[in-house]
Amino acid sequence: MDCIFCKILSKQIPNYTVYEDDHTLAFLDIFPCVKGHTVVIPKVHAETLFDVSDSDLSALTVGVKRSMEKIQTVLQPNGFTVGWNHGSAGGQAVPHIHVHIFPRWDKDGGGSMHSIIKKTGEIDVAALAKQFI
Ligand code: 5GP
Ligand code: ZN
Repeated sequence: MDCIFCKILSKQIPNYTVYEDDHTLAFLDIFPCVKGHTVVIPKVHAETLFDVSDSDLSALTVGVKRSMEKIQTVLQPNGFTVGWNHGSAGGQAVPHIHVHIFPRWDKDGGGSMHSIIKKTGEIDVAALAKQFI
């Protein structure tokens, strides 16, 4: 499989491990956006969240929590921003699902999730809600 994260799992490519268990591996991002930027991956190849089984997703969520606890202990950030880029339109470059963990510090200059995209005033929420009934 020509997947860079599968190559990290098979140790063809080295990594700086933050946390590992039977189902997940968390390692430092090689091009960090912030000190301690970590990616957490399932040990089974899956492109997006839709391709992950519920049991693997449960394990991945635990891996994210354990990784955050480790980062909290080592770096003592004031908070975290956590999420994943889903699909190319969502900014996903590596087609093996991975959760980004950004440790955050007070006044670190970064924004919240809301700073990724903002279409305030263009969206009729009440009309949109009818599509979900
Ligand atoms: P994406 O844009 O797909 O959500 O994020 C992919 C992330 O993987 C990027 O932040 C990028 O820096 C990181 N990355 C890509 N290749 C490697 C690698 O070989 N090693 C590590 N540690 N991180 C990588
Ligand atoms: Zn993979």
